[in-house]
Formats: sequence, structure tokens, C-alpha cells
Amino acid sequence: MPAQALSWQGLWLPPVSNTACMNPARSIQIPVIDSTRCTGCGWCVPTCHLHLLSLQAQGWRKFSTLHDADRCVGCRKCEVHCPFGAITMAPAMTGA
Ligand code: SF4
Ligand code: SF4
Repeated sequence: MPAQALSWQGLWLPPVSNTACMNPARSIQIPVIDSTRCTGCGWCVPTCHLHLLSLQAQGWRKFSTLHDADRCVGCRKCEVHCPFGAITMAPAMTGA
């Protein structure tokens, strides 16, 4: 089945590979958060249905942080919803 555009809570999401979540070698992309762009607004946190993102304090600022990266399915919801372009997707460094 070809990749398809998705709708999530009325918002358009870009096409996502159907095989991304099923590949045991985890040849998927996971979010990388640019702390120089992250404002700590928290918009990305509730977009992750697996609850893998949270705000973490570093000094007087807060930044979004990815936890348990091995569970990330690369759905890109967090990337799409970041209003500041602080999240980019990069190949997962873990897996078989
Ligand atoms: S939505 Fe973007 S700017 Fe806001 S906390 Fe998440 S990564 Fe940072
Ligand atoms: S890509 Fe999807 S599963 Fe991974 S952290 Fe972002 S919202 Fe969660």
C-alpha cells in the first residue's frame, strides 16, 4: 500500500511510510530537537500519542526532550506541530 497523507485532529499530516513502524531494523527517523530554536512552548508534548516528549528545565529555560527514543515510531506529529521549526527528523541511531 502506498504512503498516504493523514489527517489528525483535523490537521493535515505529510505522507508517512507504511513500513516505517514495522521494520525491525528501525530504519525510521526520530525527532531531533534544536535547543537553539526550541522556545519551551510545549506544543509538541501532547502531540505524541506515546508520551515520549516532555519539557525539561535546563537552567532558567525549558526545552522539549525526547525520552525512550526506541519507542518512537517516527510518525512526525511532533515535527509538524512545532511552530518554531525546532524539530527535524533524523535516522534513528539504535536498533538491530
Ligand atoms: S513545539 Fe517546538 S518550540 Fe515548542 S517545546 Fe516543542 S520543540 Fe520546543
Ligand atoms: S515522531 Fe511521533 S512517536 Fe516519535 S516522538 Fe514524535 S510524535 Fe512521538
